[in-house]
Amino acid sequence: LANRAFHPEDSIINVSGVKVGGDNLAMIAGPCSVESYEQVLEIARAAKASGANLLRGGAFKPRTSPYSFQGLGLEGLDILTAVKEETGLPIVTELMSDKYLDVFNEKVDLIQIGARNMQNFDLLKELGQLDRPILLKRGLNATYEEWIMSAEYIMASGNENVILCERGIRTFESYTRNTLDLQSIPVLRKLTHLPIIVDPSHAGGKWWLVDSMAMAAIAAGADGLMIEVHNDPESALCDGAQSLKPKKYDELLKQVAQIANVV
Ligand code: PEP
Ligand code: MN
Repeated sequence: LANRAFHPEDSIINVSGVKVGGDNLAMIAGPCSVESYEQVLEIARAAKASGANLLRGGAFKPRTSPYSFQGLGLEGLDILTAVKEETGLPIVTELMSDKYLDVFNEKVDLIQIGARNMQNFDLLKELGQLDRPILLKRGLNATYEEWIMSAEYIMASGNENVILCERGIRTFESYTRNTLDLQSIPVLRKLTHLPIIVDPSHAGGKWWLVDSMAMAAIAAGADGLMIEVHNDPESALCDGAQSLKPKKYDELLKQVAQIANVV
């Protein structure tokens, strides 16, 4: 179902009125984790003024250590909903457990499946029953074929609104958090008709790598960017080192607009 051979035109996915794919650029911005209403509102307002059209923020966080901040859970979801009402930005947030399928289906505009759950096949099958579009991040060591097959699980179960997200893969290099695979953009474009967006924040793991990789992704034909933005990265509860301050994000989107006009 994801195969380009049987569906030559690009799919355009409607995320609560924001079109993703085709000639549209999805600009997803927001903090790694929802920390408070004030925090998310401040970031969302600034990001929207810079040109972001979707708001991200983790309420349920897949942390490597059980002792790290795990997210605010359902309270985080309520904060995102309140900020959406205030700003009009549809929300993107990660679902980790089938326990929350119904509440996510009701409240979340674009349901994110993180790298660590890309091959949680039972969860993928459940997503097929939902009405909401799905943002499927690439697994830490997933091949293109494995990633596409995970999209296929969701689509074959009844939900064809899938957006792919390249977020870097694990390689022998340890200086950066992951290695951004820019080749995935033209390859996935050739193999599938699904939109593909790029997350340079989790790829590099360093804020100063985000702008060059974001521009490279747009030049390579990505359908959008997912970027972590924080009003106070030094005190962020998660991923501060890779988060842009709102001013940097604003400068980046101006540069991205110039590149998008050329390609
Ligand atoms: C995230 O986007 O917050 C996240 C945890 O990303 P990934 O699943 O790509 O590591
Ligand atoms: Mn993060």
